[in-house]
Amino acid sequence: MSFYKCQKCQKAWQYPIERCPDCFSILERSLPGKAKVVGVSQVKVSTILHPQTPFFALVLEDENGNRWTHKSSIEYKIGDEVEFSPSVDKNAVAIWRTKHDILEAIDNLVGLLGGLKIGEDSKILVLPSINSSKHPYLAENTSPQFLEAMIDYLLSKGAKSENIKIAAQSFNDVPAGVSATKSQLIDVCKNKKVEPIDLAEKGFVKKGGADISELAFSNDIIINLPILGLNAKKGIISATENLLKLAKKEFYLGLKYLHDEEEVTKKIIGVLPEILNVAEAIYIQRQDKANVYFGLALASFNSFNLDRVFAETAMIKNLPAFLKEINLENILVVGRSIKEVQIEADKLGI
Ligand SMILES: [Zn+2]
Repeated sequence: MSFYKCQKCQKAWQYPIERCPDCFSILERSLPGKAKVVGVSQVKVSTILHPQTPFFALVLEDENGNRWTHKSSIEYKIGDEVEFSPSVDKNAVAIWRTKHDILEAIDNLVGLLGGLKIGEDSKILVLPSINSSKHPYLAENTSPQFLEAMIDYLLSKGAKSENIKIAAQSFNDVPAGVSATKSQLIDVCKNKKVEPIDLAEKGFVKKGGADISELAFSNDIIINLPILGLNAKKGIISATENLLKLAKKEFYLGLKYLHDEEEVTKKIIGVLPEILNVAEAIYIQRQDKANVYFGLALASFNSFNLDRVFAETAMIKNLPAFLKEINLENILVVGRSIKEVQIEADKLGI
């Protein structure tokens, strides 16, 4: 949990605000090193937002005296320290709860996966979901806040804005630029001085019989930044399907004409280089397309594992074919456990 503190008034906030409302000083962001348990309650009655019981509602305190609440599936005693250990397993999935402070969530998620080596010369390609020309509140595209937080994260780790590119490709009749404008993602690019790129206008190379954007191989770091959701036909709107946008549209559509979705997905994903997936699930679409607050962000270098874990946290029954053979027991989950964050997403808001 990061805190935003006014050095003059000594007041602190748990969500990012720029200035102190009392004295207008600029607030300082601080990250606690250690968190100690100062209160514990065991909860045995389930509710719609907390279907798995029992769980423990903790009050934590950091070394600066800041306090916050934390849900845990593991029992702690007063005085215990709460730590989140990172993993070096490239197939692990990190889960973090987030509402206002997306930068904190991204910082924690990437840290839990062992971090990224970012230098001022690192060339970085970010691939948000740009699916349709819809306003952000419909949760069809990655939100401007999520993209902005990712760019802020990269800049805070030493990346240069001129080395960050935001890429998209349309697989339907609406040009990527139109969707990027309506979804307000183009405004983020302008404000942050990063270059938006339509992959369709750039070159493609042959890799393992697939036509893949040459930008997938000429950048040092590739970050898939999809928005997740539920879908009546597909089961979920996945992180994996956003990666398919790195393939050439004509190649993808041709392959889809001849093969089923599962084969197409596996063929394209199989030839891509290492990609970090950082997925937004703060507001997500239900199967009926209404959007609800889900409050999560997930990350993994393995998009299949990320999607499988998301499907489990949202308690999806109709898993997409490409996820059916993935055994949840083989996936290491770090940060928060599935049990702690699991909600039947389709029942939210009803
Ligand atoms: Zn103040």
